[in-house]
Amino acid sequence: MELPSISPCVLPPDCDALRAEVREFLAQALADYPVAKRVRNWSGSDPAFSRQLGARGWIGMTWPKRYGGGERSLLERYVVLEELLAAGAPVGAHWVAERQSALLLMRMSPDLLAPEIVPRIVRGELCFCIGMSEPDSGSDLASIRTRAVRTDAGWVVNGRKVWTSRAHQAHYMIALVRTGDAGAQRHGGMSQLLIDMNTPGLTVRPIRNQLGEHDFNEVTFDDVLVPPHHLIGVEGDGWSQVSGELAFERSGPERYLSSTQLMMEMLEVADPGDARQAVALGRIAASYATLRQMSLGVSGMLARGENPALAAALVKDQGALVEQAMPDVAHDLYGGSAQPGSPLDTAMRYTTLAAPSFSLRGGTREILRGIIAKGLGLR
Ligand SMILES: Cc1cc2nc3c(=O)[nH]c(=O)nc-3n(C[C@H](O)[C@H](O)[C@H](O)COP(=O)(O)OP(=O)(O)OC[C@H]3O[C@@H](n4cnc5c(N)ncnc54)[C@H](O)[C@@H]3O)c2cc1C
Repeated sequence: MELPSISPCVLPPDCDALRAEVREFLAQALADYPVAKRVRNWSGSDPAFSRQLGARGWIGMTWPKRYGGGERSLLERYVVLEELLAAGAPVGAHWVAERQSALLLMRMSPDLLAPEIVPRIVRGELCFCIGMSEPDSGSDLASIRTRAVRTDAGWVVNGRKVWTSRAHQAHYMIALVRTGDAGAQRHGGMSQLLIDMNTPGLTVRPIRNQLGEHDFNEVTFDDVLVPPHHLIGVEGDGWSQVSGELAFERSGPERYLSSTQLMMEMLEVADPGDARQAVALGRIAASYATLRQMSLGVSGMLARGENPALAAALVKDQGALVEQAMPDVAHDLYGGSAQPGSPLDTAMRYTTLAAPSFSLRGGTREILRGIIAKGLGLR
């Protein structure tokens, strides 16, 4: 799929009607949705809202009709994502499933698992979680120890995952597990399994984040039996499959639009005659425009089947930099004047505490920069 040449700020006119439709829907659906929830952005979740989006055809918009998808254009999908993120809509219940799990299933199990699972994702019915990190394996994912052993009845899984976002709400996990020897390159012997979160032996325990909220979890597996056909793709190819999946995870507009609510609240109170405010907010707006162009470029690469690992790492790294600078800008400009409990104060407080995680989740800054350096041939 070719991406048309576009300006970072102006998409083709046929996207405008869709944007207006999404805005109108969101204005009604979220009329009473408070800033305290909007700031959560794609971390906020509401299964009923996800089903509403599914009914409107706004999940899986570009996917093949055989899976329930809309076969619409990449730019139309981008418009919907932008509007959802800008509104701080509670999309968390289906976000991971749409962003990466369904894509993996369609690519790696097109005739077995995808026809069974993906239409339900399109309808907004399923929440997925990602089981990659373990207590001693985050950046060094190749050192995972959760093991699956093939028996006559299926795969028997034992081990532990941590930091698993939304595991307590998820219907399925896509887990990276060890199924064989790592080999000299350390990247062998790993596979991906589709695991039903209601399987006996699987336990989810909350881990509170520094906001005091329950978003991620510890998940333990004690002889969890997974059906044989829930192996995704090829046994032992887990590493290359996960590398492809991480590109989906790192490239979307949520990597620079998580803190949009804070930007909106700053713009709401901004004094147009104040040069200091104009410069600081203008810098963020300019960064948004650049990141949007980069993020659209990565979407185009994904759609053309190219490997966007380097470009996706750049978008995520630069997006996190902009987002993490935003609370400082807000405190600098409005720290002394924001009324306690006001929308701006609420957005500042939340984003200040949430932002440090932006350069950890989905791969740390140091790891991303290692990928970038390697991709540029610098090491
Ligand atoms: C909000 C949030 C949500 C998350 N959700 C999920 C989820 O749903 N599923 C999931 O599987 N994981 C999830 N994670 C985990 C996340 O992927 C890991 O935290 C991350 O990969 C880092 O791993 P670690 O915590 O083990 O830190 P470590 O890997 O121990 O890293 C610690 C520090 O050392 C640095 N470091 C490590 N190795 C190198 C190196 N080779 N060179 C230079 N520096 C290095 C890192 O950059 C980091 O600063 C989530 C994390 C957060 C914060």
